[in-house]
Amino acid sequence: MSRKARERIAHTEKRVEKRDRMLEHNFSAERATLEEVFDQATRMVVYRFMTEGILNEVNGVVSAGKEARVYWGKNKEGKDLAVKIYLTSSAEFKRGMFKYIEGDHRFKGVRHDTRSLIFAWAQKEFRNLEQAFRAKVNVPKPLAVKNNVLVMEFIGKDGVSAPSLKEMLPSEPEKVYRKLLTYVERLYHKADLVHGDLSEYNVMFWKGKPVVFDMSQSVPLSHPLAKFLLERDLANVNRFFSRYGVKVLSAEEAYRQVVG
Ligand code: ADP
Ligand code: MN
Repeated sequence: MSRKARERIAHTEKRVEKRDRMLEHNFSAERATLEEVFDQATRMVVYRFMTEGILNEVNGVVSAGKEARVYWGKNKEGKDLAVKIYLTSSAEFKRGMFKYIEGDHRFKGVRHDTRSLIFAWAQKEFRNLEQAFRAKVNVPKPLAVKNNVLVMEFIGKDGVSAPSLKEMLPSEPEKVYRKLLTYVERLYHKADLVHGDLSEYNVMFWKGKPVVFDMSQSVPLSHPLAKFLLERDLANVNRFFSRYGVKVLSAEEAYRQVVG
């Protein structure tokens, strides 16, 4: 067995262990943590998705971030789903996200209270994924959104998310770099979007291809921050791949390739 193959197996084992710990944590969790995410209103949304046949079960936590938790779920046919639940209790989060919503023409007239902003934030991620999906960018297919709950295709297997680029460098990084630039270009020209938080943390590697995700902060090209965010995205991608010996384009070349 090659060293790469052994590394991959070791990696998967580590992630399975992590998932099991998460599942255990979830079930034995102090009630308080669960209540915080699954407040009454959120439980009603999940329940409604179940009666509508979108969701059949919600299993363990896949990721517990500051702003959102991601759960592993399944539909009636047993297909794996990711359920991203935005926490409605994060005031700091509200300050951070306002600038992304403010200049977005799709969200004119959204109210400024925390709840409305967080619902808009989930809606925004859904719309961004939809636009990206239609533009043939490899993203988790968005399936449903209501209030602070977003349901999408699960990238990975048996409740273990595919590794991010941060966790596993693909064996042909040049190819992945080029593919990623193609995705940024499609996002720009076909989806009218700039990702806005593109980095090795928000790209998974699955079935030989990069998968771009975490798109709540993505903005349309008309947004006042679009150019700044695109340059930052490209700088992040260049920094990451150049560190692994990929001959990356210069910042200007990458920008020109994307914008054309
Ligand atoms: P955050 O805002 O917390 O960064 P992300 O959307 O980046 O939220 O998701 C956090 C983590 O959850 C990811 O790094 C990934 O491991 C997992 N995850 C998110 N979406 C999916 C998905 N569609 N399929 C599988 N795992 C996912
Ligand atoms: Mn993320």
